[in-house]
Amino acid sequence: MPVLVKGGRIITATDDYVADILIEGEVVTQIGRSLDVRADQVIDASGRYVFPGMVDPHTHFETPAFGVVSADDFTVGSISAAFGGTTTVVHFAQQERGEGVAEALARWQGLLSAHPTVIDVGFHMILKDLGVPNALEELAKLPAQGIPSFKLFMAYKGDSMVDDETLYQAMQVAADTGALVMVHAENGGVIEVLRRQAVARGQLTPEYHAKTRPPFTEAEATNRAIMLARIAGAPLYVVHVSCREAIEPIRRARAEGALVWGETCTQYLFIEESMLAIPDFEGAKYVFTPPPRSRENWEPLWQALATDVLSVVSSDHSPWRWHGQKTLGAEDFTKIPNGAPGVENRLQMIHHFGVRKGHLSLNRMVQILSTTPAQMFGLYPRKGTIAIGSDADLVVFDPEREVTLTVATHHSNCDYNLYEGTRVVGGPETVLVRGQVVVNREELTVKPGFGQFLQRDLFTPPTIGGQVAGSVAGDVPSHATI
Ligand code: MN
Ligand code: MN
Repeated sequence: MPVLVKGGRIITATDDYVADILIEGEVVTQIGRSLDVRADQVIDASGRYVFPGMVDPHTHFETPAFGVVSADDFTVGSISAAFGGTTTVVHFAQQERGEGVAEALARWQGLLSAHPTVIDVGFHMILKDLGVPNALEELAKLPAQGIPSFKLFMAYKGDSMVDDETLYQAMQVAADTGALVMVHAENGGVIEVLRRQAVARGQLTPEYHAKTRPPFTEAEATNRAIMLARIAGAPLYVVHVSCREAIEPIRRARAEGALVWGETCTQYLFIEESMLAIPDFEGAKYVFTPPPRSRENWEPLWQALATDVLSVVSSDHSPWRWHGQKTLGAEDFTKIPNGAPGVENRLQMIHHFGVRKGHLSLNRMVQILSTTPAQMFGLYPRKGTIAIGSDADLVVFDPEREVTLTVATHHSNCDYNLYEGTRVVGGPETVLVRGQVVVNREELTVKPGFGQFLQRDLFTPPTIGGQVAGSVAGDVPSHATI
């Protein structure tokens, strides 16, 4: 059974060296130069990077919204992830209004069992309604059940949005039980007014999705969530930060030593607001929330990632088919399902445009796509690094392989690719999960059901070499390239 990954350039958040990796069972058991060992399977990684498997902490598979269900079930979504070098997702199980917290969790466990995966999966819990019986008691039990992160929405008024009282109560439970609170930070009340006014004026095309969600609505809610978390003494993770205005309160809080982290998503580095105006309703492909911003935000986002003001890039994979799903909003942008596919192309896009173009070092890329999300979400050092005793989740990555990202070659059920026609250099060649090859070039080599559900550990702040990441004012990690 032993597997030897031979002669690759091993790149973790902190190291970069050439060595062999021996895998026995599901874990790495030896790392060294020219290991003299017997192996049943040898993977030649010479001339290749070997990364720890990527961890995507923000995906929505088979999730209901806008009266429809997102296009990838767990099986398909996990296959799409695997082909992109992502070996773990921490997925959002979502409570619906009126549904019990424990009931929601059981329902999502059922969906995962019905559509088994090829990679490992953990759950966060989205909370829409803490008014149901025993909500706070059931919430308090989740961290010890392996679900130490709760997400709440400050937007989508009348559906997912919670008020400050609810958000604050969830933060108190998190502070007491070792959980991390995640927020979708936009001012839902202001956005609701702007949307109503746009509709009343007959402004119904996709570009009004962005015009009714201006950057200060995101900045205000980001700052409010930070203040509430600091009152509650709870750690806070702000998902999908999209613009300069929202980076600023995170930068300030981190400089003051607050337990606050920010995530951005691949699409905010590449998709700009003007794309919503592409004719014939094509712009609806880019309706996700927060909306795409002007390209003046791209450089500040890269800068924030390089300096650990932002700490993670996720995909927010939320695939809606253009035909039949996005088109529900053909006459009214408020009816367009919000979200886009992206779980498969995150590593390739960030490698090509982040590392090759000089925004990030290879180490920093691994950190923001794998190590920090593993640390934030209770999976480290089992996931997120290459070390003796860690799960043998590995990506053998060919840095010279040229790939054109298209709808024809991605593995999502979505009928468009967000980065259609983009040529990137560098792509995953062989992907292993717990020592098993799951993807070899164009071929899937395991059956759905190989993936496991991950019980995650309680929240602890992420560290870089023993130091709490970003805890020092203006601290720039030494391995970051600016
Ligand atoms: Mn969101
Ligand atoms: Mn999301």
